[in-house]
Amino acid sequence: MSTRRVLAMQDVVNRVPVEHNKTKLQVSQYYGSNVFGLDAMREFLSEEAFESIQQSMHRGSIVDRKMADQVAACMKAWAQGKGVTHYTHWFQPLSGATAEKHDGFFEPIEGGRAIERFSGNALVQQEPDASSFPSGGIRNTFEARGYTAWDPTSPAFIWGNTLCIPTIFVSYTGEALDFKTPLLKSLHALDKAATDVCQYFDKNVTKVIATLGWEQEYFLVDSALYHIRYDLQQTGRTLFGHAPAKGQQLEDHYWGSIPERVSAYMRDFEYEAHLLGIPVRTRHNEVAPGQFECAPVFEEVNLAVDHNLLLMDVMEKVAIRHNFRVLMHEKPYAGVNGSGKHNNWSLATNTGKNLLSPGKTPKTNLQFLTFFVNTVKAVYEHADLLRASIASANNDHRLGANEAPPAIMSVFLGEQLSRVLDDLEKSVHSGKMSPEEKTALKMSIGRIPDILMDNTDRNRTSPFAFTGNKFEFRAVGSTANCGGPMTVLNAIVCEQLIQFKKDVDGLLEKEVEKDEAIFQTLKKYIIESKRIRFEGNGYSEKWKAEAKKRGLSNFATTPSALDVMISKKSLHLFESLGILNHREQEARYEISLETYTKKIQIESRIIADMVNNQIVPAAISYQKVLVDNVNGLKNIFGAAEFKSAAEIQLNLIKEISDRVNIIQKTAEAMREERKKANLLDTAKKQADVYCDKVKPYFETIRYQVDKLEYIIDDATWPLPKYREMLYLR
Ligand code: ADP
Ligand code: MG
Repeated sequence: MSTRRVLAMQDVVNRVPVEHNKTKLQVSQYYGSNVFGLDAMREFLSEEAFESIQQSMHRGSIVDRKMADQVAACMKAWAQGKGVTHYTHWFQPLSGATAEKHDGFFEPIEGGRAIERFSGNALVQQEPDASSFPSGGIRNTFEARGYTAWDPTSPAFIWGNTLCIPTIFVSYTGEALDFKTPLLKSLHALDKAATDVCQYFDKNVTKVIATLGWEQEYFLVDSALYHIRYDLQQTGRTLFGHAPAKGQQLEDHYWGSIPERVSAYMRDFEYEAHLLGIPVRTRHNEVAPGQFECAPVFEEVNLAVDHNLLLMDVMEKVAIRHNFRVLMHEKPYAGVNGSGKHNNWSLATNTGKNLLSPGKTPKTNLQFLTFFVNTVKAVYEHADLLRASIASANNDHRLGANEAPPAIMSVFLGEQLSRVLDDLEKSVHSGKMSPEEKTALKMSIGRIPDILMDNTDRNRTSPFAFTGNKFEFRAVGSTANCGGPMTVLNAIVCEQLIQFKKDVDGLLEKEVEKDEAIFQTLKKYIIESKRIRFEGNGYSEKWKAEAKKRGLSNFATTPSALDVMISKKSLHLFESLGILNHREQEARYEISLETYTKKIQIESRIIADMVNNQIVPAAISYQKVLVDNVNGLKNIFGAAEFKSAAEIQLNLIKEISDRVNIIQKTAEAMREERKKANLLDTAKKQADVYCDKVKPYFETIRYQVDKLEYIIDDATWPLPKYREMLYLR
């Protein structure tokens, strides 16, 4: 009898909503108060220091050491006023989560006393021992030490009683060991390339920033149930579980009324987020029972990425106060939708214009079309790299399942813009255009804003969709650091814009008129990139066949998707733009493979643990009840009557034996495959074998376990069931 499950369910039944934040204040009254932002800086810094740090923030340049001392002293004074005692450099190693090591401000001085100190050096740079973070072989050849360096473009903040300083993390010899370093470099390169292209249209543009608005999906589960599911605790997903009779068929959860306990949780984490200046504004129930979403107002990409990572941490911590666990995993439950993190991406100028938003005049629309077409072309050129940027063991469960964008990369434009591109393709020719043709073309471009107004065309099955004034990269996984895919997107668009400028300038040298040179170049790109455009249902089998015919790749698994990371084309892309050199990129490839292997390895071991320690014992103890019953019946009935009286029990006894046999044999065979895989000598070979040989056993074992769950006495079953975990009050 599984007393643990019964006790846990008692806890769940007795839960009441708890709300910690009972403030009656409006958000604007406390928003950002735990951030060392503009207001705090103005209040605490001298004018000179304020100017200096502003410059660093805008240019991403290094803060002068003398100024750093002053900034550090002021940050400390500000933070102490809020009861802060410690500080940490806060960074994003390639392990995926954020990293922090807290140091106290205090320093012992003579006479057994102590003072609080925080120097410019401590603010600007730290030297953490890097040896336990993934480095993909980079650290083996050099010293194990790495250093973290302040990123002044993302403001310091207080979380708990610690002052957190966002930093990059690099090896002693300068190689990036994190997500932030290449992201910042990609943003810098993109700024330059996009600003150059803007000069064709508007000389006032001196800076272009990329913007990101992410939408975070997540599940909540009661902590009492979470604690007795080892699989959830250790892997973030359930490795077993029979589908509930009622899942998401009725589609009654999506945008439904938010359960009271959940709403109290949301209010609490939003409050914490707002103190941290994270602009979360949207909340709703998602498709699957137990699934929810939150989304902020978009921000500059680097800041948005930091905010997303910080919010995930906040959400996990606040959940515990509410007796919830938040599941960020891409696929916590089989059979119901998994979680993604849509990345809405656009480009904005210092003049306040969204470059992916059509303007009011033909001229601004030509600028819009330029950035629009170049983005489509960039995705066409590097579709495989974009696919690789979202590949992970977790995300493999979503991509290609009929709930999330497929693993085939394509771009959705909407009917209206597809027509505009088709028009452009038809009406532009390489010879000189007549004035009438030009007018007609400009007219058709001038109509874009009107037609987009009622463009409610929302294809939810596309991995990369244009949604009116931004592109939405939908295939990103819910646990991902958006920095990975954003670095790739920035890089490929940057490379494309550089090419565009070369092509247009080449025509200008041949004395082609500017607008015409732009039209002709765009036309060329539209033709070249046609294959990547797809407006239909991305979930359909028809699309798979069609994509294959078009020569588009479909990498269903992570190990196969990752190879492109070290193709000549990809290495050249990152190296030529100064984002990652080939050693750094190769290291990332190794790390991604190793992470994949480790995740599958852990899941495989946990499956065997749970089978041996929980599933099989439960099956046998229920079987014993049946056997005792059969023996009893034998004593009571004569031979003829016994046969019919014991028929069901005998069948069940046999079924349990059969299933347990298959489970045990399969688990043993899986272990043998693991042993072989572990002896292989490269990360790639190991990942391939874990993917193709080890992982397929999961399904076989799970199938049998779920059948057992279905027939075994509810009171005996040791694991919380889907029907108990998915429904929250
Ligand atoms: P949905 O996609 O759910 O229909 P919206 O289209 O309203 O919702 O917006 C989704 C997300 O897109 C929000 O997080 C929002 O901040 C973001 N977003 C809107 N405009 C931009 C932009 N110019 N750049 C980046 N993100 C944006
Ligand atoms: Mg969206």
